[in-house]
Amino acid sequence: MLKMLLALAGDSAAALRRTFVLNLCFLGAQQLSYIAAFFLLQTLFLQTEGGTWDWLVWVIVLVILALAFAFFNLRYLISAYTGCYAIAAGLRLRLCDHVRKLSLAFFRKKDAGAVSGALIDDIRSMEGLYGMYLFDMSACLVFPVLLCLVMLFVSWQVTGILILATLLALPLVFWACRVTAALGPEYREARDASYASLMEYVGGIRELKAVNLTGLRYTPLITSWQRYGKLSVKMEGKYGLLTLAYSAVLDAGFLATLMLGLSMVENKSVGLASFMFFLIVGSRFVEPVRDFGMVLPEMRNCLAAADKLSGMLAEPVPQTLPAEPVTGHAVCFENVSFAYEDGRDILHAVSFTMPEGSVTALVGPSGAGKSTIAHLLLRFQDVREGRITLGGADIRSFSQEDLYRQFSVVFQDVWLFDDTIFNNIHMARPDATAEEVREAARLARCQDFIDKLEQGYETRVGEGGARLSGGEKQRLSIARAILKDAPIIILDEATASLDPENELSIQEGLNALLSGRTLLVIAHRLETIRYADSILVLEKGRITEQGSHEELLAGKGTYARLWELQNTIKSWQLG
Ligand code: ADP
Repeated sequence: MLKMLLALAGDSAAALRRTFVLNLCFLGAQQLSYIAAFFLLQTLFLQTEGGTWDWLVWVIVLVILALAFAFFNLRYLISAYTGCYAIAAGLRLRLCDHVRKLSLAFFRKKDAGAVSGALIDDIRSMEGLYGMYLFDMSACLVFPVLLCLVMLFVSWQVTGILILATLLALPLVFWACRVTAALGPEYREARDASYASLMEYVGGIRELKAVNLTGLRYTPLITSWQRYGKLSVKMEGKYGLLTLAYSAVLDAGFLATLMLGLSMVENKSVGLASFMFFLIVGSRFVEPVRDFGMVLPEMRNCLAAADKLSGMLAEPVPQTLPAEPVTGHAVCFENVSFAYEDGRDILHAVSFTMPEGSVTALVGPSGAGKSTIAHLLLRFQDVREGRITLGGADIRSFSQEDLYRQFSVVFQDVWLFDDTIFNNIHMARPDATAEEVREAARLARCQDFIDKLEQGYETRVGEGGARLSGGEKQRLSIARAILKDAPIIILDEATASLDPENELSIQEGLNALLSGRTLLVIAHRLETIRYADSILVLEKGRITEQGSHEELLAGKGTYARLWELQNTIKSWQLG
């Protein structure tokens, strides 16, 4: 466990050890001061008239210990609080960095709610663990034992009652732990599910409004939050009752100790000094034991969160093969087969080559596997069989950064960040000048709609680009691709949401971008790809036809049929 916690602390592990030492010093000074107080009381009570100045020695000792206590306590608090925030911040960054390297298969396994639950709540639990619970727990374990030894030395009968009360109360704590351990996984799963449904609700608000489901009728959101609420109440209720009962048993034990102490003072079997000592030290003993009851279940919760975070950090990043020599930017699929996690075969021994500087088009019915081919090339997931090469080297031998540097991609679903228009384009190449950003926007035909906005390039686009139309978002995404100016370009239904006028003018912009590049274009509208060097027809994950537009028309196969169909649709009219 300690190993896992030190590993999660990362670079702050040394600071964590230092905090432990400071914690021990401050608690040591605190406990020693109780012992010094006992001796001071004893000296005072036993003092005869015209007695010695021995008590002064204990006062000096007490002052020194109080100063040491204040000093170490302050240092400990600063170290613990700054340390826990540094650990949490570092952990969040490490986790974000790790998660970004994972294949998309991970995100299909875990929904967005689980990832944000880990990044927000589980790391917040870690703040509590590293800032408080770890140290509280060490204090709860070590000091009651030490104080007990000292108390036994003063009166074994009174101490015995305290020990008995503690032993009677402890099963309640273990019971509370069992409750949190049993309900914990379900509780965390409900929390992640409610986060996920909230994100889905906010993300899909437009569609929900369209079907009039924004109110109390959006059941997934309501049910998930109700379930989360019920589980929270159930867990807190059981846990709270048990810890209250634990506290009550301890208090009763302490009360019994005092009663016994008083009667012993009366019959003179214990001195007044010893009784006073019990009054101080007994309460000091009960305090950490009581804390133990609160801290242990919390620790169990935090350790479960730590376990989850360690699991996420241990999630394997896609394997990288030894580097291979790269020549040019030709892309080659060699007998590529692929299935998603559900095991259904999507691609079957797909082989084709995209020579450097050529235009390759992928067409075929919906669900044939065209986007999957683009995703495999981008290594969003890895092939199951066969290999994909770029410049002659397996794409798995590229580092993630090197691989993504090779591609400019325009998807049909464009995601823009809640930032300015300028920054949304600029992110494609952070070293680009403002002039280059504007030029890319001009080529992608963004200029006209940007000019109409009051703040022009400084206009914020809203989350996901919510303040822009589908066509405007797509043009911004094309501007990004133009600015990035990578040697290989993937257009996945890139001009699907543009009107014909814009499509035509963007085609001109794209043509400027495309010269000399290797291009893979996925399109439904065959008109847009008729001049491609090679057109691949994909059906049920297999390439069934391949050739130029004229060759495929002459072949009278699926492509010719689709071409015919689209020409018929062009003349289709309402009514
Ligand atoms: P296309 O781009 O030709 O329309 P896709 O490559 O998007 O087709 O999808 C090919 C097949 O893979 C479809 O049957 C689709 O349902 C399936 N598919 C796509 N994404 C996933 C996924 N994440 N998990 C499981 N199946 C998927």
